[in-house]
Amino acid sequence: MAIEWKLVSDKEVKVTDKYYDEALKIQVKNMLLLDADRLLAGFRETAGYIAGMNEEERTAFMKGKARYGGAWEDGMIGGHTLGHYITALAQAVANPGLSEDERGKVKERLDYMIDALKECQDKTAGTRFEGYIFGAILPTKEFQDNPAQQFDNVEKGLSNLFTEAWVPWYTMHKIVTGLNAAFALAGNDKALEVDNSLAEWIAKRSESWSEETHKTVLSIEYGGMNDCLYELYNINCYLKEQGNKRAYADPEIIKAAAHRFDEVALFEKVLAGAPNIMNNTHANTTIPKFIGALARYEVDRSETKYLEYAESFWDLVVNKHTYVTGGNSENEHFGEDNVLDAERTHVNNETCNTHNMLKFSRRLFAVTGNKKYLDYSENTLINAIMASQNHDTGFTTYFQPMATGYQKVFNTLDGNFWCCTGTGYENFTKLQRGIYYKADGRILVSMYLASKYENEEYRLTQECDLTVSDTVKITVSAKSESGFKDSLLLRVPTWVKSKMVVTVGGKRYEAVSCDEYIEIPAAILADAAKEAGKAELEIKLPMGITCHNLPDGHNTYAFCYGPYVLSARLGSKKIKETTHGVRVSVAAEKAVDSDELTITDEKSVESFIENIDKYLVKREDSCEFDLGGVSKPLVFTTHFNQYTESYGIYWKFVI
Ligand SMILES: [Zn+2]
Repeated sequence: MAIEWKLVSDKEVKVTDKYYDEALKIQVKNMLLLDADRLLAGFRETAGYIAGMNEEERTAFMKGKARYGGAWEDGMIGGHTLGHYITALAQAVANPGLSEDERGKVKERLDYMIDALKECQDKTAGTRFEGYIFGAILPTKEFQDNPAQQFDNVEKGLSNLFTEAWVPWYTMHKIVTGLNAAFALAGNDKALEVDNSLAEWIAKRSESWSEETHKTVLSIEYGGMNDCLYELYNINCYLKEQGNKRAYADPEIIKAAAHRFDEVALFEKVLAGAPNIMNNTHANTTIPKFIGALARYEVDRSETKYLEYAESFWDLVVNKHTYVTGGNSENEHFGEDNVLDAERTHVNNETCNTHNMLKFSRRLFAVTGNKKYLDYSENTLINAIMASQNHDTGFTTYFQPMATGYQKVFNTLDGNFWCCTGTGYENFTKLQRGIYYKADGRILVSMYLASKYENEEYRLTQECDLTVSDTVKITVSAKSESGFKDSLLLRVPTWVKSKMVVTVGGKRYEAVSCDEYIEIPAAILADAAKEAGKAELEIKLPMGITCHNLPDGHNTYAFCYGPYVLSARLGSKKIKETTHGVRVSVAAEKAVDSDELTITDEKSVESFIENIDKYLVKREDSCEFDLGGVSKPLVFTTHFNQYTESYGIYWKFVI
């Protein structure tokens, strides 16, 4: 049986890496600049209609504020941002990377939002909408008389997103997840009350579905409704076990509602593994469904089939649909298996997808102990998530083009409340998650990132910056009298160019195995800590260039240096934006006519790639690389912090 790991608590880890720290701070600053009353306007309007308020009363209840614009918050998907926002605020409350003062401000904002939602929910008491809160626009009298009209429409299969329904269950998933986080991470009790009453509304509604209605509902994007309900079920079970009166009377009702969002027919199809089953499937509709399958296994370990569903979907996405950055999709959709080079455009790699795949991978690692999930997580956090932020403004991307020559395009403070804007808030307030895991008798360092991890037993400090040096220093001390009881596992990254070298207390440590992890037993740590009270470790991670082509682009290559995807700097002269889909800003112009590079100094592409160290050379004093031996020399740099220029990750090499 594989070891079961636990993600360590967000509260125990502080990222000290300067770049990550700045990324968190600027994100929180932006979040606090938003007007809470505008994010709440739709929820208050909905409650006002349900309570039968007249226009004047409603306007007063809404504090005279209107929803934000941009076609999303003032559209039928309105209110989804609030869900992300409260998740992100709850994470920020739990984040030791913020000062007490900053955390205080964030908590005040979160409490304000939850108080307001409770006030909205209280207005529904005794009505046929009891427990219901929602924030989308109510464009006609029909919607005003029935503020749950979107849900009725979905049950009839009506899904025109401007007039009938724009994925209301997707929005509901964001709201429930936010309430879960507000309780679980920020300890807001009122959030749980709102959450449980809302879940009761969801349970009642879904209970009445006929088989046909059920099918129709599941055919329209519903986010990870199963995931958030299993999570809420788990919270309630835990409270009930503790004899806590805040627990929902019968958590099984919530679990039964979660089951209704398990799309077993789809799960079976993926498990059966026919070719091209994901072709033309909306990626971010599908990924959360499988996170929900995993959640079912997480709450009930006898449901092993659901783990198989989750694992087979992850394999399919990562092995057949994923670019070097960890991202997937073209224009929000999966294509045919292994067709990636042909689908490199200006609209690849929706940020929600990498956000969800990262969440999925960490949880899959926890229950399986399979290292491949950690390798994917590290790569995706650095090269897709960190790469999604404009580090000057804190704004984030929707798409990240894989076609060569485009630039990243970011949201604005209050103009674009896209799905990815919301996941962006969430991404940057939990950057400490996934660096460390814990199991019985073991602590795992999963990522090499400057940080501090402190729990009741240990204090661990990690100092490094892999863009500057390949050496990591770890200091660990035991806090309790009983000393070191756990061994320390160091993940061996897939990208190391030669053997990882570890010294403990200045002495070279010869590991029994260094295939996946290097394990340092508690006794060795204790011995090293005998004199100074702390064990000092030095880890050398030999870094170098690795080359990555595409299954349908044998000669189309991307390059990495250690964990960093590199992209060529293509200047800022061709930066132009246009809109795509529902008012999504995207790149409009390429900075290069072609992504072909003719090799001048070798006789074949294979020999050029084999000798890449000769042609892609790191500058001594920076993380910049000069590519030579080709018709057009280029300068590459780490992709994650390329946000002012057009870029090129993939290049087609020809002779
Ligand atoms: Zn998105």
